[in-house]
Amino acid sequence: MSNADQAELDKFSQLAHRWWDTNSEFKPLHDINPLRLEWIAGLAGGLQGKRVVDVGCGGGILSESMALRGARVTGIDLAEKPLKVAKLHRLESGVEVDYRLVAVEDLAAAEPESFDVVTCMEMLEHVPDPVSVMTACAGLVKPDGWVFFSTLNRNPKSYLFAIIGAEYLLNMLPKGTHDWSRFIKPHELAAYARQAGLDSIELMGMTYNPLTKVYRLERDTDVNYLLACRRV
Ligand code: SAH
Repeated sequence: MSNADQAELDKFSQLAHRWWDTNSEFKPLHDINPLRLEWIAGLAGGLQGKRVVDVGCGGGILSESMALRGARVTGIDLAEKPLKVAKLHRLESGVEVDYRLVAVEDLAAAEPESFDVVTCMEMLEHVPDPVSVMTACAGLVKPDGWVFFSTLNRNPKSYLFAIIGAEYLLNMLPKGTHDWSRFIKPHELAAYARQAGLDSIELMGMTYNPLTKVYRLERDTDVNYLLACRRV
């Protein structure tokens, strides 16, 4: 459990009971989920029958949606409460997901090259050593398999939008949700991916229009973005 920030895990645990409330601080994750799900499924050639691990799965928004597409999903996280909420929601929804409290590094050591697809969304900016997480993700995926990351860019605009805008002006996220200094520039993420033995295939931006309240996937990677990788 060395590559985890307990204060970060506690933050998510404290809010966890509202994870599936689509009007809570988790609304952004609910809103972006259909977009990222389509993007992931499209690149991975569908999810039916695929073995997927969702790293930093939280309450299971993406995990459940991938299972609904026919994937056999394992969801892992190091925060206890979000995993409990994920398991409770699984009872309600009847969607089968294997949730486990385990570090990604430990799972990679135990089950190397076991998954067709690895997803690690909105998590790298909360961990002390993102390269260690990415290396473990690369270790979990089968040769030729897909690894998907998403995180926040680090520049003045992302400070304005993701911190000032989302946490202070629009109150979309609780104050202190994100530490701007932990945001990762796309070229840094691509370099980390290469270091981890992954080829970067597609970089995709995600934008939010506060007036229309619409999220979109597009070229603009200034604030939120996703990176699709394949194991070399
Ligand atoms: N990936 C999910 C949840 C994002 S919220 C989604 O996009 O819908 C960030 C999640 O990362 C939280 O559930 C938090 O507990 C988890 N997390 C933070 N640090 C972690 C670590 N070191 N190891 C595993 N999970 C971690």
